[in-house]
Amino acid sequence: MDNELTLVSLAQHFSDEDKAREFMEKLRWPDGPVCPHCGQVGNAYRLEPKPSKKGKHVRKGVWKCAGCREQFTVTVGTIFEDSHIPLNKWLLAYHLLCASKKGMSAHQLHRMLKVTYRSAWFMAHRIRYTMTQEPLSSKLTGVIEIDETYVGGKIREKYVTAVKPGERQQDRRSPFANKQSVVSVLQRGGRVQSTHVQRVTAENLRPIVEQMVAEDAHVMTDSATTLKGALSTPTHSQVNHRAEEYVRYENGVCITTNSIVGFFATLKRGINGVYHHVGKQHLHRYLSEFDFRYNSRKQKDGDRTLIALNSVSGKRLMLRDSKQPN
Ligand SMILES: [Zn+2]
Repeated sequence: MDNELTLVSLAQHFSDEDKAREFMEKLRWPDGPVCPHCGQVGNAYRLEPKPSKKGKHVRKGVWKCAGCREQFTVTVGTIFEDSHIPLNKWLLAYHLLCASKKGMSAHQLHRMLKVTYRSAWFMAHRIRYTMTQEPLSSKLTGVIEIDETYVGGKIREKYVTAVKPGERQQDRRSPFANKQSVVSVLQRGGRVQSTHVQRVTAENLRPIVEQMVAEDAHVMTDSATTLKGALSTPTHSQVNHRAEEYVRYENGVCITTNSIVGFFATLKRGINGVYHHVGKQHLHRYLSEFDFRYNSRKQKDGDRTLIALNSVSGKRLMLRDSKQPN
Protein backbone atom coordinates (compact mmCIF):
# COMPACT_ATOMS: atom_id res chain seq x y z
CA MET A 1 0.00 0.00 0.00
CA ASP A 2 1.54 3.30 -1.07
CA ASN A 3 -0.70 5.65 0.80
CA GLU A 4 -0.86 5.63 4.54
CA LEU A 5 -4.16 4.43 5.88
CA THR A 6 -5.90 7.03 8.02
CA LEU A 7 -9.48 7.50 9.09
CA VAL A 8 -9.87 10.19 6.44
CA SER A 9 -8.52 8.07 3.60
CA LEU A 10 -10.54 5.11 4.82
CA ALA A 11 -13.72 7.15 4.90
CA GLN A 12 -13.07 8.46 1.39
CA HIS A 13 -11.93 5.26 -0.24
CA PHE A 14 -14.23 2.88 1.55
CA SER A 15 -17.38 4.87 1.08
CA ASP A 16 -18.96 1.79 -0.41
CA GLU A 17 -18.66 -1.94 -0.35
CA ASP A 18 -17.20 -2.31 -3.83
CA LYS A 19 -14.14 -0.21 -3.03
CA ALA A 20 -13.67 -2.04 0.25
CA ARG A 21 -13.81 -5.37 -1.56
CA GLU A 22 -11.21 -4.24 -4.11
CA PHE A 23 -8.98 -3.17 -1.22
CA MET A 24 -9.27 -6.57 0.44
CA GLU A 25 -8.58 -8.33 -2.86
CA LYS A 26 -5.33 -6.38 -3.27
CA LEU A 27 -4.39 -7.02 0.35
CA ARG A 28 -5.17 -10.75 0.46
CA TRP A 29 -4.15 -11.58 -3.09
CA PRO A 30 -1.05 -9.58 -4.04
CA ASP A 31 -0.22 -12.19 -6.74
CA GLY A 32 -3.75 -12.57 -8.08
CA PRO A 33 -6.86 -14.30 -6.77
CA VAL A 34 -6.24 -17.44 -4.75
CA CYS A 35 -8.86 -20.17 -5.14
CA PRO A 36 -9.86 -21.37 -1.65
CA HIS A 37 -11.08 -24.66 -3.12
CA CYS A 38 -7.99 -25.88 -4.99
CA GLY A 39 -5.33 -23.33 -4.03
CA GLN A 40 -4.45 -22.15 -7.54
CA VAL A 41 -3.09 -18.61 -7.69
CA GLY A 42 -3.97 -16.12 -10.41
CA ASN A 43 -6.05 -18.62 -12.41
CA ALA A 44 -9.53 -17.21 -11.86
CA TYR A 45 -11.73 -14.70 -13.63
CA ARG A 46 -14.38 -12.30 -12.42
CA LEU A 47 -18.01 -13.13 -12.97
CA GLU A 48 -19.90 -10.09 -14.07
CA PRO A 49 -22.81 -9.37 -11.78
CA LYS A 50 -25.79 -10.09 -14.03
CA PRO A 51 -28.93 -12.20 -13.99
CA SER A 52 -28.10 -15.86 -14.51
CA LYS A 53 -30.14 -18.30 -16.59
CA LYS A 54 -32.20 -19.33 -13.62
CA GLY A 55 -33.02 -15.70 -12.99
CA LYS A 56 -30.73 -15.44 -9.98
CA HIS A 57 -28.35 -12.52 -9.77
CA VAL A 58 -24.66 -13.26 -9.55
CA ARG A 59 -23.37 -11.38 -6.55
CA LYS A 60 -20.70 -8.74 -6.91
CA GLY A 61 -17.14 -9.74 -6.28
CA VAL A 62 -17.58 -13.36 -7.33
CA TRP A 63 -14.62 -15.09 -9.03
CA LYS A 64 -14.58 -18.37 -10.88
CA CYS A 65 -11.57 -20.64 -10.74
CA ALA A 66 -10.42 -21.75 -14.21
CA GLY A 67 -8.85 -24.81 -12.64
CA CYS A 68 -11.59 -26.37 -10.52
CA ARG A 69 -14.52 -24.31 -11.84
CA GLU A 70 -15.62 -23.39 -8.33
CA GLN A 71 -16.78 -19.90 -7.40
CA PHE A 72 -15.48 -17.79 -4.54
CA THR A 73 -15.16 -14.27 -3.16
CA VAL A 74 -12.41 -12.55 -1.22
CA THR A 75 -14.24 -13.08 2.06
CA VAL A 76 -14.38 -16.90 1.85
CA GLY A 77 -12.55 -18.36 4.82
CA THR A 78 -12.33 -15.05 6.67
CA ILE A 79 -14.21 -13.60 9.61
CA PHE A 80 -16.19 -11.54 7.07
CA GLU A 81 -17.69 -14.62 5.45
CA ASP A 82 -21.47 -14.82 5.91
CA SER A 83 -21.52 -11.43 7.60
CA HIS A 84 -24.43 -9.19 6.70
CA ILE A 85 -22.40 -6.14 7.68
CA PRO A 86 -20.96 -4.30 4.66
CA LEU A 87 -17.23 -4.83 4.23
CA ASN A 88 -16.46 -1.11 4.31
CA LYS A 89 -17.90 -0.91 7.83
CA TRP A 90 -15.75 -3.85 8.84
CA LEU A 91 -12.63 -2.08 7.58
CA LEU A 92 -13.54 1.09 9.43
CA ALA A 93 -14.15 -0.90 12.63
CA TYR A 94 -10.72 -2.48 12.25
CA HIS A 95 -9.09 0.89 11.92
CA LEU A 96 -10.98 2.38 14.85
CA LEU A 97 -9.91 -0.47 17.14
CA CYS A 98 -6.33 -0.44 15.87
CA ALA A 99 -5.86 3.31 16.07
CA SER A 100 -7.45 3.94 19.47
CA LYS A 101 -4.90 3.40 22.19
CA LYS A 102 -7.49 2.41 24.76
CA GLY A 103 -9.82 0.63 22.38
CA MET A 104 -13.36 1.52 21.49
CA SER A 105 -16.59 0.40 23.07
CA ALA A 106 -19.31 -1.39 21.13
CA HIS A 107 -21.58 1.55 21.97
CA GLN A 108 -19.27 3.96 20.20
CA LEU A 109 -18.81 1.64 17.21
CA HIS A 110 -22.58 1.32 17.05
CA ARG A 111 -22.96 5.09 16.87
CA MET A 112 -20.06 5.74 14.50
CA LEU A 113 -20.75 2.94 12.03
CA LYS A 114 -24.53 3.07 12.14
CA VAL A 115 -24.88 -0.63 12.89
CA THR A 116 -26.93 -2.08 15.73
CA TYR A 117 -25.30 -2.36 19.14
CA ARG A 118 -25.46 -6.12 18.85
CA SER A 119 -23.70 -6.07 15.47
CA ALA A 120 -21.07 -3.69 16.84
CA TRP A 121 -20.47 -6.01 19.77
CA PHE A 122 -20.01 -9.03 17.50
CA MET A 123 -17.75 -7.10 15.14
CA ALA A 124 -15.51 -5.96 17.97
CA HIS A 125 -15.26 -9.47 19.35
CA ARG A 126 -14.42 -10.96 15.99
CA ILE A 127 -11.77 -8.32 15.45
CA ARG A 128 -10.28 -9.04 18.87
CA TYR A 129 -10.28 -12.71 18.00
CA THR A 130 -8.15 -12.07 14.92
CA MET A 131 -5.76 -10.06 17.08
CA THR A 132 -5.01 -13.15 19.19
CA GLN A 133 -1.32 -13.88 19.07
CA GLU A 134 0.05 -17.18 17.94
CA PRO A 135 1.79 -19.06 20.75
CA LEU A 136 5.42 -17.98 21.06
CA SER A 137 7.66 -19.92 18.69
CA SER A 138 10.57 -19.41 21.05
CA LYS A 139 10.86 -18.29 24.65
CA LEU A 140 11.46 -14.66 25.54
CA THR A 141 15.04 -13.75 26.38
CA GLY A 142 16.85 -10.69 27.72
CA VAL A 143 15.16 -8.57 30.37
CA ILE A 144 11.65 -9.82 31.17
CA GLU A 145 9.28 -7.83 33.34
CA ILE A 146 6.45 -9.79 34.95
CA ASP A 147 3.63 -8.34 36.99
CA GLU A 148 0.05 -8.93 37.97
CA THR A 149 -2.88 -6.55 38.00
CA TYR A 150 -6.59 -6.62 38.72
CA VAL A 151 -9.19 -5.32 36.32
CA GLY A 152 -12.96 -4.90 36.13
CA GLY A 153 -15.39 -5.04 39.04
CA LYS A 154 -15.52 -2.13 41.40
CA ILE A 155 -13.97 -2.28 44.84
CA ARG A 156 -16.95 -1.82 47.09
CA GLU A 157 -16.58 0.95 49.61
CA LYS A 158 -17.63 -1.18 52.51
CA TYR A 159 -14.78 -3.53 51.86
CA VAL A 160 -12.12 -0.90 52.08
CA THR A 161 -13.19 0.70 55.34
CA ALA A 162 -11.21 -0.02 58.46
CA VAL A 163 -11.75 -3.31 60.26
CA LYS A 164 -14.65 -2.93 62.65
CA PRO A 165 -14.31 -3.85 66.31
CA GLY A 166 -14.77 -7.59 66.72
CA GLU A 167 -14.20 -8.22 63.00
CA ARG A 168 -11.23 -10.27 61.99
CA GLN A 169 -9.23 -9.10 58.99
CA GLN A 170 -9.30 -12.54 57.39
CA ASP A 171 -13.13 -12.73 57.57
CA ARG A 172 -13.63 -9.67 55.41
CA ARG A 173 -14.09 -10.07 51.71
CA SER A 174 -11.10 -9.04 49.71
CA PRO A 175 -11.53 -5.72 47.89
CA PHE A 176 -10.38 -7.66 44.84
CA ALA A 177 -13.19 -10.20 45.21
CA ASN A 178 -15.01 -9.22 42.02
CA LYS A 179 -11.94 -8.23 40.09
CA GLN A 180 -10.15 -10.45 37.63
CA SER A 181 -6.45 -11.19 37.82
CA VAL A 182 -4.21 -10.60 34.84
CA VAL A 183 -0.59 -11.65 34.64
CA SER A 184 1.56 -10.17 31.89
CA VAL A 185 5.02 -11.16 30.72
CA LEU A 186 6.82 -8.35 28.90
CA GLN A 187 10.14 -8.51 27.12
CA ARG A 188 11.74 -5.11 27.51
CA GLY A 189 11.83 -3.46 24.09
CA GLY A 190 9.85 -6.41 22.74
CA ARG A 191 6.46 -7.96 23.12
CA VAL A 192 3.96 -8.56 25.87
CA GLN A 193 1.66 -11.50 26.49
CA SER A 194 -1.16 -11.30 29.01
CA THR A 195 -3.08 -14.13 30.63
CA HIS A 196 -6.27 -14.12 32.66
CA VAL A 197 -5.63 -16.29 35.72
CA GLN A 198 -8.23 -17.44 38.22
CA ARG A 199 -6.00 -16.77 41.18
CA VAL A 200 -2.52 -15.37 41.42
CA THR A 201 -0.67 -18.21 43.05
CA ALA A 202 2.80 -19.59 42.47
CA GLU A 203 1.26 -22.82 41.12
CA ASN A 204 -0.86 -20.94 38.58
CA LEU A 205 1.99 -18.72 37.47
CA ARG A 206 4.69 -21.36 37.13
CA PRO A 207 3.43 -22.85 33.83
CA ILE A 208 3.08 -19.36 32.34
CA VAL A 209 6.66 -18.50 33.25
CA GLU A 210 8.01 -21.85 32.11
CA GLN A 211 6.26 -21.57 28.78
CA MET A 212 7.37 -18.04 27.99
CA VAL A 213 10.61 -17.18 29.77
CA ALA A 214 13.99 -18.52 28.65
CA GLU A 215 16.26 -19.90 31.34
CA ASP A 216 18.96 -17.31 30.72
CA ALA A 217 16.52 -14.39 30.97
CA HIS A 218 16.78 -11.73 33.67
CA VAL A 219 13.36 -11.45 35.29
CA MET A 220 12.35 -8.24 37.06
CA THR A 221 9.31 -7.92 39.28
CA ASP A 222 8.15 -5.73 42.12
CA SER A 223 8.49 -6.93 45.67
CA ALA A 224 4.80 -7.67 46.27
CA THR A 225 4.73 -10.43 43.74
CA THR A 226 3.75 -14.04 44.24
CA LEU A 227 6.06 -14.81 41.37
CA LYS A 228 9.05 -15.61 43.47
CA GLY A 229 7.76 -19.12 44.06
CA ALA A 230 6.99 -19.53 40.35
CA LEU A 231 10.48 -18.69 39.18
CA SER A 232 12.92 -21.53 39.18
CA THR A 233 16.02 -20.81 37.17
CA PRO A 234 16.15 -17.28 35.76
CA THR A 235 18.00 -14.44 37.43
CA HIS A 236 15.48 -12.46 39.43
CA SER A 237 15.66 -8.83 40.59
CA GLN A 238 13.00 -6.93 42.47
CA VAL A 239 12.21 -3.28 42.91
CA ASN A 240 10.49 -2.29 46.10
CA HIS A 241 7.53 -0.13 45.11
CA ARG A 242 6.37 0.09 48.71
CA ALA A 243 9.60 1.84 49.58
CA GLU A 244 9.05 4.03 46.51
CA GLU A 245 11.91 2.44 44.67
CA TYR A 246 11.10 2.27 40.96
CA VAL A 247 14.47 2.22 39.23
CA ARG A 248 17.91 1.28 40.36
CA TYR A 249 21.10 0.27 38.65
CA GLU A 250 23.05 -2.85 39.44
CA ASN A 251 26.31 -3.46 37.57
CA GLY A 252 25.04 -1.18 34.78
CA VAL A 253 21.73 -3.06 34.47
CA CYS A 254 18.55 -1.02 34.91
CA ILE A 255 16.35 -2.79 37.44
CA THR A 256 12.76 -1.61 36.97
CA THR A 257 9.26 -2.76 36.05
CA ASN A 258 8.32 0.57 34.51
CA SER A 259 7.55 -0.92 31.07
CA ILE A 260 4.94 -3.29 32.41
CA VAL A 261 3.56 -0.70 34.81
CA GLY A 262 3.04 1.53 31.74
CA PHE A 263 1.33 -1.28 29.83
CA PHE A 264 -0.99 -1.94 32.77
CA ALA A 265 -1.84 1.76 33.00
CA THR A 266 -3.12 1.68 29.40
CA LEU A 267 -4.90 -1.63 29.95
CA LYS A 268 -6.69 -0.36 33.03
CA ARG A 269 -7.63 2.96 31.49
CA GLY A 270 -9.07 1.01 28.58
CA ILE A 271 -10.89 -1.69 30.52
CA ASN A 272 -12.18 0.64 33.21
CA GLY A 273 -12.74 3.75 31.12
CA VAL A 274 -13.88 2.42 27.76
CA TYR A 275 -15.29 -1.01 28.33
CA HIS A 276 -16.66 -0.61 31.87
CA HIS A 277 -18.13 -4.05 32.21
CA VAL A 278 -15.98 -6.74 30.74
CA GLY A 279 -17.48 -10.16 31.30
CA LYS A 280 -14.83 -12.42 32.76
CA GLN A 281 -15.54 -15.01 30.07
CA HIS A 282 -14.53 -12.41 27.48
CA LEU A 283 -11.55 -10.88 29.28
CA HIS A 284 -9.00 -12.93 27.32
CA ARG A 285 -10.23 -11.33 24.09
CA TYR A 286 -9.76 -7.83 25.47
CA LEU A 287 -6.27 -8.85 26.60
CA SER A 288 -5.54 -9.99 23.02
CA GLU A 289 -6.58 -6.55 21.82
CA PHE A 290 -4.35 -4.64 24.24
CA ASP A 291 -1.42 -7.03 23.71
CA PHE A 292 -1.81 -6.65 19.95
CA ARG A 293 -1.69 -2.86 20.06
CA TYR A 294 1.31 -2.91 22.40
CA ASN A 295 3.17 -5.40 20.25
CA SER A 296 2.62 -3.26 17.16
CA ARG A 297 3.22 0.01 18.99
CA LYS A 298 6.12 0.98 16.73
CA GLN A 299 3.86 0.82 13.67
CA LYS A 300 1.83 3.71 12.36
CA ASP A 301 -1.90 3.36 12.99
CA GLY A 302 -2.59 2.52 9.35
CA ASP A 303 0.10 -0.15 9.24
CA ARG A 304 -1.24 -1.66 12.45
CA THR A 305 -4.65 -1.90 10.77
CA LEU A 306 -3.05 -3.70 7.81
CA ILE A 307 -1.32 -6.16 10.15
CA ALA A 308 -4.65 -6.90 11.82
CA LEU A 309 -6.44 -7.22 8.47
CA ASN A 310 -3.84 -9.72 7.33
CA SER A 311 -5.01 -12.04 10.10
CA VAL A 312 -8.63 -12.25 8.98
CA SER A 313 -8.24 -15.50 7.09
CA GLY A 314 -8.45 -18.89 8.67
CA LYS A 315 -10.21 -17.41 11.65
CA ARG A 316 -13.95 -17.65 11.65
CA LEU A 317 -15.47 -16.91 15.00
CA MET A 318 -18.82 -18.61 15.28
CA LEU A 319 -21.52 -16.52 16.85
CA ARG A 320 -22.17 -19.16 19.46
CA ASP A 321 -18.59 -18.70 20.68
CA SER A 322 -19.52 -15.28 21.90
CA LYS A 323 -23.14 -15.53 22.79
CA GLN A 324 -23.67 -12.81 25.28
CA PRO A 325 -23.02 -9.15 24.69
CA ASN A 326 -21.22 -7.87 27.76
ZN1 LIG B 1 -9.93 -23.75 -7.82
